[in-house]
Amino acid sequence: MGKIGIYGGTFNPPHAGHMAAAQQAISLLKLDKLLIIPDGQPPHKDMPEGTPPAELRLELTRLASTGLAKAEVLDVEAIRPGKSYTADTLAALHRRYPEDNLYLIMGTDMLMSFPQWHNPAGICAMATLAVLLREERDPKVQDTLQAQAQIIRKKLGGKVKLLKNNALPMSSTDVRRMLVFRAQGQMVAPAVLEIIQREGLYGVNRNRRGLSMEELEREVKALLDPKRIPHVLGCRDTAAKLARQYGADVTDAARAGLLHDITKALPPELQLQLCRAYGIPLDAFGQENPKTLHALTGAWVAREIFGENQAVFRAIESHTTGCAGMDTLQKIIYIADYMEPNRDFPGVERLRQAAQTDLDRAVCMGLEMTVDTLRQQGRRVARDSLQAIAWLKQ
Ligand code: FE
Ligand code: FE
Repeated sequence: MGKIGIYGGTFNPPHAGHMAAAQQAISLLKLDKLLIIPDGQPPHKDMPEGTPPAELRLELTRLASTGLAKAEVLDVEAIRPGKSYTADTLAALHRRYPEDNLYLIMGTDMLMSFPQWHNPAGICAMATLAVLLREERDPKVQDTLQAQAQIIRKKLGGKVKLLKNNALPMSSTDVRRMLVFRAQGQMVAPAVLEIIQREGLYGVNRNRRGLSMEELEREVKALLDPKRIPHVLGCRDTAAKLARQYGADVTDAARAGLLHDITKALPPELQLQLCRAYGIPLDAFGQENPKTLHALTGAWVAREIFGENQAVFRAIESHTTGCAGMDTLQKIIYIADYMEPNRDFPGVERLRQAAQTDLDRAVCMGLEMTVDTLRQQGRRVARDSLQAIAWLKQ
């Protein structure tokens, strides 16, 4: 009796994280074979713009997994029209491999939704659920997952194996963002990248320079974490209003407002990857606090990908820390980010009032609030912020 793993997904696009997870599953479960099965076009799921048809995703997945010994890419779901159920695919594989033990490889989100799948008891009767767990998860999440595994064992009679996944977590959404930013590095295999670029998948070849305000808004929304969209639109509107009031360029203010958090969704390791890809010089503070890097990487993306000017670049670059010698647009983006209408924290009304009458005083108040908070939390304060306060008080 052999052990066969089954690894399904949209693979949109197939990337290094998928292949690392596949390799982990093969070695941790000591699989004899791993079947990689790209989905067809799931009708219930909105696919991102520029998504290739199922046949091309299948081809990309084949190319991505050529280096993976024991892996075989199957077209059973990709070629089937309409909705495909894991239970049906599994039943077909169960008939094909009656002597072998089947393992259904899944991530944690799939474990949580599993009882709501079509025929979960049937799936449990045919395969062991093998869940790849990310290592750095907090203990509460671990408890929830353990409890969920227990429920599936008891209520559905399932066999559930929780596996430690040492592979770096990587999301397809982030891979698509990095492709658009032309900073994908090793995230996709060279042969896969070649086809993505040749076919212009995921909008990678689109010229994003000199867009109209409407086009820019559409592009930005597609790249942001959807939760952040209201904040960014609020920042744009607030910045434009302040620019009118304080005599700055209204267009620059609106564009900087739209673009200021363009890289915010990316995790620290991808912030660092962007810095490497663009050759952005990093100081010690940035290296130790990669979460603050989105201001720097955002400024570079605004300039290199969207063709924005130096005024917009500087305003985005300084939007989290401020800096000595800030110009009016820099002050406007700093304070608009801080107090746009979606922001809600003690003291935000005082900031809004100050911004109506005295831009410098408002920026100074914002900087001091941030410095106080960081000190209370025992966190390091950016030197730029301290210099900005000293400069504004002069
Ligand atoms: Fe930000
Ligand atoms: Fe922001």
